[in-house]
Amino acid sequence: MSKHIFVTGGVVSSLGKGLTAASIALLMKQRGYSVKMQKLDPYLNVDPGTMSPFQHGEVYVTVDGAETDLDLGHYERFSGVDCTQESNFTSGRIYSNVISRERQGGYLGKTVQVIPHITNEIKDAIRAMASDDVDFVITEIGGTVGDIESLPFLEAIRQFRQEVGAENCIFMHITLVPYIKAAGELKTKPSQQSVGILRTIGIIPDMLVCRCEVSLEEEHKEKLALFCNVPRHLVIEEKDVENSIYEVPLDLVKQDLDVYVLERLGMHVNRLDLTKWRKMVKTLIEHPAGEVEIAVVGKYISLVDSYKSVYESLTHAGIASQVKVKVRMVEAEDIEKLGAAKLLKGVHGILVPGGFGDRGIEGMIKAAAYARKNNIPYFGICLGMQCAVTEFARNVAKLKGANSSEFNEDSAHCVIDLMEEQKSVTEKGGTMRLGAYDCAVKSGTKAFKAYKRKKISERHRHRYEFNNEYREQLEDLGLIISGVNSELDLVEIVELKDHPWYVAGQFHPEFQSTPLKPHPLFRDFVKASLVRRK
Ligand code: GLN
Repeated sequence: MSKHIFVTGGVVSSLGKGLTAASIALLMKQRGYSVKMQKLDPYLNVDPGTMSPFQHGEVYVTVDGAETDLDLGHYERFSGVDCTQESNFTSGRIYSNVISRERQGGYLGKTVQVIPHITNEIKDAIRAMASDDVDFVITEIGGTVGDIESLPFLEAIRQFRQEVGAENCIFMHITLVPYIKAAGELKTKPSQQSVGILRTIGIIPDMLVCRCEVSLEEEHKEKLALFCNVPRHLVIEEKDVENSIYEVPLDLVKQDLDVYVLERLGMHVNRLDLTKWRKMVKTLIEHPAGEVEIAVVGKYISLVDSYKSVYESLTHAGIASQVKVKVRMVEAEDIEKLGAAKLLKGVHGILVPGGFGDRGIEGMIKAAAYARKNNIPYFGICLGMQCAVTEFARNVAKLKGANSSEFNEDSAHCVIDLMEEQKSVTEKGGTMRLGAYDCAVKSGTKAFKAYKRKKISERHRHRYEFNNEYREQLEDLGLIISGVNSELDLVEIVELKDHPWYVAGQFHPEFQSTPLKPHPLFRDFVKASLVRRK
């Protein structure tokens, strides 16, 4: 039987609940246990796939093609365990399941209600993660305790605990202990109040994890324990980390958080092996080989969460080369106004990430041209690959007005075109080419040099694709097709001859990079940027 850890959040959002949950997953795994992770989100979109990155940050894609919350990226990067379709449920998805069952007559004439039907559906979603070979299921409840929207989820986990027994279930409440500068004091009241809200709905947290910018004193911990009805040793401090989010598990371990969780759930306290993790964090912080500067040119630049996995993957690649990757965030539209030279001068590498819609697209194409002409390492991801192909078609093959049909359907040269299978698609949600697909890598290419394998699998999220009608023509001029999906004959990776490192893929490698296993393309891109710096 799986043990369940439920993570709730109090006082404010953006507390880093996902990072805490991911850290616990890492610690359990490094103690030899198997873990699965899940996030339950209170909003009504069926999944975040239709939301703008400005609303919700990056949409993270799982191997099996779920479009999910970006916290799942943390889960995978910390624990190394793949998430699935079952790892992210929203209220929208829960309600839509219940409503479609109602339409099919599945409730046999009963009145369909939040309790028990919605809560049952939520409990089924939690149960779907549990099995004999999973020791721990960690379920994070999105949003903040006290929100109207999250009530059914909280009621469901309350019922769940009754059903599986308190010995198989932990409620961990992450809360904020703010520091009031003017008074020079830490305040425990907001935490007391948020635990109070939980109590009114029948949930008594077993543990408190206190986010703070200033260390808690013994008196604060005692006060929190007393007022929140939690044993003193289960009041854990989670202070802002100094250098990197990857320090969070190390801080939690110092306070034996994982030991208490295991003891509370009656599990054996196996030996913990964090040797590799500690070494990784040390390299990350010390970065003995100095710094490289990479420009990320996109349209969602003003919100760091929009390209979360890209930035993280660059950090991972930096660890592999022992450098710190400094990111110069460049608004693609600014390049349209001010020119590439002005904004990209001096960078050691240029990355154009994924995106949708035409805003800033000409700026991204200019960035690709600047990298090509100035021998600056270039890494194109999805839209960044489409921009690279368009640029090459326009400026090397002299195909006037070459474009993606996403941006100009009437272009005489749609070198990027809607995929055949997409032409009949009318609904927006969950209908792109999503999830992992195989790709055959051509030997002798930079891609092969990175992967060192002929067959790879990468995650996708797109509707448009390299137009094979232009393949020969562009190849003749020096565009190398270094990766192809053989099943559908789709171009997956392109690169340039006679360039230090210019590689672009139709997929999202950032969803498979972890700090312990930097993605080979990111790794080689940063390595090439380091060569450029030298
Ligand atoms: N908008 C492009 C497409 O749909 C690229 C998508 C992406 O970058 N994820 O093909």
